[in-house]
Amino acid sequence: MSAVINIIGSGFSSLSASCYLAKAGYDVTVYEKNDTVGGRARQLKKDGFTFDIGPSWYWMPDIFEKFFNDFGKKTSDYYHLDKLGPAYKIFFKDEVITIGDTLDKICKEFDRIEPGSAIPLKKFIEKAATNYDIAINKVVLKPGLSPFELITPETAMRVDQFFKTISGEVRKQFNNPKLISTLEFPVLFLGAKPSNTPSFYSFMNYADFGLGTWHPKGGMYEVIKAMETLAKSLGVKIITQSVVKKINVSGKTASSIEINGEKKSFDILLSGADYHHSETLLDEKYRQYSETYWSKKTFAPSSLLFYVGFNKKLKNVEHHNLFFDTSFETHAEEIYDNPKWPKDPLFYANFPSKTDATMAPENAETGFFLIPIAPGIEDTEALRAQYFDIIISRFEKLTKQEVKNSILFKDSFCVKDFIKDYNSYKGNAYGMANTLSQTAFLRPKLKSKKVNNLYFTGQLTVPGPGVPPALISGKLVADLIIKHHNTAV
Ligand SMILES: Cc1cc2nc3c(=O)[nH]c(=O)nc-3n(C[C@H](O)[C@H](O)[C@H](O)COP(=O)(O)OP(=O)(O)OC[C@H]3O[C@@H](n4cnc5c(N)ncnc54)[C@H](O)[C@@H]3O)c2cc1C
Repeated sequence: MSAVINIIGSGFSSLSASCYLAKAGYDVTVYEKNDTVGGRARQLKKDGFTFDIGPSWYWMPDIFEKFFNDFGKKTSDYYHLDKLGPAYKIFFKDEVITIGDTLDKICKEFDRIEPGSAIPLKKFIEKAATNYDIAINKVVLKPGLSPFELITPETAMRVDQFFKTISGEVRKQFNNPKLISTLEFPVLFLGAKPSNTPSFYSFMNYADFGLGTWHPKGGMYEVIKAMETLAKSLGVKIITQSVVKKINVSGKTASSIEINGEKKSFDILLSGADYHHSETLLDEKYRQYSETYWSKKTFAPSSLLFYVGFNKKLKNVEHHNLFFDTSFETHAEEIYDNPKWPKDPLFYANFPSKTDATMAPENAETGFFLIPIAPGIEDTEALRAQYFDIIISRFEKLTKQEVKNSILFKDSFCVKDFIKDYNSYKGNAYGMANTLSQTAFLRPKLKSKKVNNLYFTGQLTVPGPGVPPALISGKLVADLIIKHHNTAV
């Protein structure tokens, strides 16, 4: 008989782990609280419009490819990928910067804004490419068990880059504030301020300018569907509408989980739900991290999101658009240093139907708007409405068109929904930030120190926030389980 592994949650990290564990011969069942799989990457379909509820930037295509290759498959066995050209547009108060689909095009755009800046840009991206190679091949694939994992000949030579910040590095080489914001944008995916993110993370700039921005036809949810299909083909059982209410422990061993009044037993338990929530399912004596521990951590922002159906095609926008026409620094302070609703928020908007006709009805546009906000702040319908008005007015002005009268519907999602739908700590959108003091072995551990057969995966543990890291997190924890319980049968 195969050893039984139960997995809590069906986000990217849980689905990834489920595939590796099933391939290794375990009997794997995934229990998901919501009606559909995918966690933060679920999908909303309404009146012919298709929205990705969470992630929309498909970066680091090599990581997705490697994941499917591990099972003898390719991404193209499941979904069609297009490289977006341009990758995205950034709207500033008095200028629009277009990020093309090759480094040459981006260099030309940098030179247009700051003559001569293409030369330092090429050097910066060369260094970022080396960092990417080291990060992906040498650092990120480590389970975060000890500080020694970080010490490789390559990282030892670059130790200074763990103590300098990305913000400082960019400012040393570029003067134009718009180019500075452009180069600081990618590390926002790591959940922290650029002034609090080690410069080694410039590998995100290589992901951006070197590897490019891609779109799976049909949206990011196609990747979830692909992983679900793969998992099921490997024998994984996935059961939705299953809220895990309690983890029971006997001695130092987790023995069962309680779902819909029933006890399910297993040999090994893995939770891909938010780490903080997973620990609250245990009696207090089995929790490794106190409420004080969590309250002192820097969490990635929460978000106010709008899913909007427009009854016409929109002008002057691309698939991905950043609205950086207000102060980056002030908004960052209002998220991290002095949490409150931002006075003049930056925002992001995507219109996947610009490049993918399957995402909206004919002559219509699917619109997704995101304002990053501090986790845990007040969330009311009135605030949501107020902020929609703020950004849509700015959107009209900056893109030079009227859209308010073309809205068929708008749904919103904010702090309260992150808590209700995902049991997210303070309603964070994408986990715990990757700051220097919250990197690698300094993040919450994949294996419980108090319960022998309990493991964790996902964006609050290693390597951190984002879809590619979630795929890697699932692999890391599966490898650890296979190593510790070296036989599946
Ligand atoms: C708005 C938004 C935009 C983003 N944009 C991008 C992007 O463009 N690109 C990118 O790479 N990343 C992006 N991210 C980050 C990325 O989506 C996440 O890092 C990733 O999806 C997290 O996966 P996970 O498996 O760690 O967690 P989750 O997706 O949160 O999965 C956890 C699962 O556990 C379930 N669960 C919780 N409690 C229980 C319980 N008691 N019982 C059973 N099930 C439970 C939840 O319902 C959920 O399905 C974005 C995130 C958000 C929210």
